[in-house]
Amino acid sequence: MIPFLDLKQVNGRHAEAIHEAVERVLASGWYILGSELPRFEQAFAAFCEARHAIGVANGLDALTLSLRALGIGPGDEVIVPSHTFVATWLAVSHVGATPVPVEPVADGFNIDPARIETAITPRTKVIIPVHLYGEPADLEPILDVARRHRLRVVEDAAQAHGARYRGRRIGAHGDLVCWSFYPGKNLGALGDGGAVTTDDAELAERLHALRNYGSRMKYHHEVIGFNSRLDELQAAVLGAKLPFLDDDNAHRSRIAAQYTAALANAPLELPTIGSHRDAVWHLYVVRHPQRDELAARLRDLGVATMIHYPVAPHLQPAYAALGLQRGSLPLAEARQDQVLSLPMGPTQSADETARVISAVREALRAMAS
Ligand SMILES: *Cc1c(COP(=O)(O)O)cnc(C)c1O
Repeated sequence: MIPFLDLKQVNGRHAEAIHEAVERVLASGWYILGSELPRFEQAFAAFCEARHAIGVANGLDALTLSLRALGIGPGDEVIVPSHTFVATWLAVSHVGATPVPVEPVADGFNIDPARIETAITPRTKVIIPVHLYGEPADLEPILDVARRHRLRVVEDAAQAHGARYRGRRIGAHGDLVCWSFYPGKNLGALGDGGAVTTDDAELAERLHALRNYGSRMKYHHEVIGFNSRLDELQAAVLGAKLPFLDDDNAHRSRIAAQYTAALANAPLELPTIGSHRDAVWHLYVVRHPQRDELAARLRDLGVATMIHYPVAPHLQPAYAALGLQRGSLPLAEARQDQVLSLPMGPTQSADETARVISAVREALRAMAS
């Protein structure tokens, strides 16, 4: 079986550096808010071409604390993509605001900037573009509409470590940029982790307090904060892995190019990347009207696939109260029904990619006859 993503192999390559990092933390006697976290925060901020990075417990917290730092709460509306992982919406709900979905571009997966303006009301405060599957959203028109309506932009970059928009790294185009270090992400910890990057020193200060009980000085609490720190072990492991991220992303790009070249004439919709963007291929997502049959045939041929995501946020029981029935967001629903993610990862060999390609061709042939 060709695995979807072999995390044991991904982290096994760094076993020595990881053991060294763990030993260092063990010996230090500091396990929360020690010296490993600021060291990683500095390295990650530099990598993202941002002034500040604030480590937090996970990607959902990065988003929730960011909205909290901007003062978003009950009565406010936040524009989110209709097609995304549910966490983008959950963060909005956790601060008491209302997620307002906007459909993706017709030929892709990211939020359509041209559809944002009609979703803006007097209650709208923030736009959250998501750089889904590793492809940056079209930030320039999004930042432009935000400026004209005095809205903040919080980027969900949980799938886009290392990506570029108009030559500049994702990391500080918007007001706050949110990251996840969940193990399966392009930069993954050995557990949960997250961060926020920004060029705004005042927002960075607020996030430092929010992640640590609303406190900047021990036992003095300025705001009603959270316990959401990136711990020393995860920070040390992430610091050991960060130097390899660009090479890993280059490897992912080669796999994507191999898929795209070999499947160009197959009866299958392949992913395309918008102009001015360098994608990091967190996922390689194809579309097919008989997606479930294609996935089943690939499994029988020894190829693992996944679906990102099988149920759009507005159709989840958690969001039943919004009253958005099937048919209300047709582009998100078409993607939910048609997307299939092929194997992708930094240790996937060219031979494995070739075997996936042969299996896809064989499955499609069988389905056509
Ligand atoms: C993974 C992910 C999150 C949440 O990150 P966690 O660290 O798992 O909480 C949010 N948004 C997107 C797009 C993600 O892929």
